[in-house]
Amino acid sequence: VKMVSVGVDVGGTNIVAGKVNRGSIVKISTRKTEASKGKKAVFNNLVGAIRDVLDKSVTEIGIGHPGPLDIKRGVIGNAVNLPMKGMALREMIHKEFSLPTKLDNDANCFALGEAMYGKGKGKSTVLGMTLGTGVGSGLVLNGKIFHGRSNALELGHTSIDFNGRKARCGNTGCLERYASTVGLRESAKEYGFKITDGEQIAGMARKGNPIAKKIWKEFGMFLGVGLANFANTFDPDIIIIGGNITRSWDLFSKQAISEMKKRALFTPCPVVKSTLKNAAVVGAAAL
Ligand SMILES: [Zn+2]
Repeated sequence: VKMVSVGVDVGGTNIVAGKVNRGSIVKISTRKTEASKGKKAVFNNLVGAIRDVLDKSVTEIGIGHPGPLDIKRGVIGNAVNLPMKGMALREMIHKEFSLPTKLDNDANCFALGEAMYGKGKGKSTVLGMTLGTGVGSGLVLNGKIFHGRSNALELGHTSIDFNGRKARCGNTGCLERYASTVGLRESAKEYGFKITDGEQIAGMARKGNPIAKKIWKEFGMFLGVGLANFANTFDPDIIIIGGNITRSWDLFSKQAISEMKKRALFTPCPVVKSTLKNAAVVGAAAL
């Protein structure tokens, strides 16, 4: 029987820690990541966020951190938006709190949270995706995260246009360069707009701006191309999409799903919006 755990979602902007009892967050803390201040500052903020919610009832800690990671050793790889490369984070948190500690990819934690307590509950193959600054994803098979050797399911780096936008990973046309905030910014720029986040372009679209509407339609199409590939590859029971950009779900989901259906070899599974709050924190606690 699972006891009370602390789950942590380490993001580029915020670190969210929750005390979680059987899938329910009973206490939560958000601290600034302060990634620009370097490794030590981020580690201290992470420890602080855990301390905010920790008490004697907690028996274990789970941490979700952006990849790549060395899952077996619990070491952070070359994560783009965080300065933690090479840090043996699992061991350091274990030493700090003397509690069993697990480390996994943040998007894997999102998928696990959804599979156990969200819209994937009771389903055997659950694909979770997060659309935010970038695109994260995780696959949960019969309650277990699929890791491959360590870093499977980097679906944000599958190419949807092999002659497309240059990506920092060395590839071109990565899904992440289209179906994310970074992608929206780039699309807006191509139409002569300067935006900082998806909310701006969503506001314009809702007021009827035809170009803003077109940008969201294209966003849906790009995502749909990816979804068709993922449906053909994994044929999951459900695809659950979370992240900031799902605030604009009404502006892109229809296009994404119709594009997926048009391209997939067989009738693909349902694609739904995540409604589980802090799914990555809940999933990290369930590690
Ligand atoms: Zn890439």
